Amino acid sequence: MKEDTVIASAGRDKQYSHGAVNTPVYHASTLIFDSVKAMKQANANRNRGGLSYGRRGTPTTFALEAAMCELEGADGCFLYPSGLAAITGAILSFVRAGDHILMADGVYEPTRMLACNILKKFGVETTFYDPMVGAAIAGLIRDNTRIIFVESPCSVTMEIQDIPAIAAAAHERNILVMMDNTWATPLHFRPFDHGVDVAIHAATKYIVGHSDAMVGIVSTLKPHRQQLFDQSYQLGYCLAPDDAYLALRGLRTLKVRLKQHEQNALKVAYWLKGRPEVDHIRHPAFESCPGHALWQRDFTGANGLFSFVLKQGNEQATTAMMEGMEHFKMGYSWGGYESLILTYSGIDRYRSASGWDHKGPLMRLHIGLEDVDDLIADLDRGFHRFNQNI
Ligand SMILES: *Cc1c(COP(=O)(O)O)cnc(C)c1O
Repeated sequence: MKEDTVIASAGRDKQYSHGAVNTPVYHASTLIFDSVKAMKQANANRNRGGLSYGRRGTPTTFALEAAMCELEGADGCFLYPSGLAAITGAILSFVRAGDHILMADGVYEPTRMLACNILKKFGVETTFYDPMVGAAIAGLIRDNTRIIFVESPCSVTMEIQDIPAIAAAAHERNILVMMDNTWATPLHFRPFDHGVDVAIHAATKYIVGHSDAMVGIVSTLKPHRQQLFDQSYQLGYCLAPDDAYLALRGLRTLKVRLKQHEQNALKVAYWLKGRPEVDHIRHPAFESCPGHALWQRDFTGANGLFSFVLKQGNEQATTAMMEGMEHFKMGYSWGGYESLILTYSGIDRYRSASGWDHKGPLMRLHIGLEDVDDLIADLDRGFHRFNQNI
């Protein structure tokens, strides 16, 4: 079956939907059984999509899990109330006190905080590595290393990692490769074909796609499925049915949305490349992005999210630029239909293994589904304000 067909059909099971095209929202904590035998059976089947108790899932969440499994080629998916909860749940499901984690230096900042504050408190130590390390990751592995946590492209700075090389080194030492695959979605990077063992999505971004729900999804293959399910369940994670519904609904249009986001963003990025204020573009499809060749080799597309570095600038100038924008809104997160702009200062504060020595500010854009010419005109006026305030 081709990908478009999978997206349209995945997880649509009459057992869950009773004939409706979309599986309805089932609100349930308690589920009622007709007999003691049925109750016992439900308990025995509770890990296999059987209805037993709300926290174990409802038809709405089962439909989302089934759809994600099919799309990503996974044997099991578990749902969490946010992307960060998915990262926390995935890591906690596989570490114990005394373990060591190798984590890319450019991971999503709250992932770094989780490692430095929470995991550390429970005796799990984390070493950050240069995202461009490739096969040399082998030299950083210790006897107690349990997980290599990758995110590619990295958040904000967009370095692309050599995941097959990292996975080869990891598997030689029986280490789990966990990947935050939010940027690519299951459509643009196939984690399990590239050696990833556990893939994590902030479905809050492109899968929900409309900036109106927080959803985390972790998918894995058979060898790790039971441990992920049992331990994430024991930690109390589950997803509310309304949000599962929104994620499923968003999933159906993921591919057409991504295509348009990608096309719009490329146009904006090429325009930015020609601006005198811009030092370089951090978009995986551009040679100026570290790991560009790896992106060409391993990924099948891009989307609306990228960054660029200015030659020079200060807070007054970037503030004047951002606050006067008409179409670009200021806000964290991304992946909805709307365009967003923000700037990051002090990137080197969150780096311990790789430097950041660019002197101009970095700006990150999420290019939405608006008309590209309107967006470019908005940025053009933004640069005018920037130049007047520098
Ligand atoms: C947003 C994001 C997360 C966290 O997702 P939430 O749903 O906001 O908790 C994790 N990883 C990446 C790469 C993200 O962009």
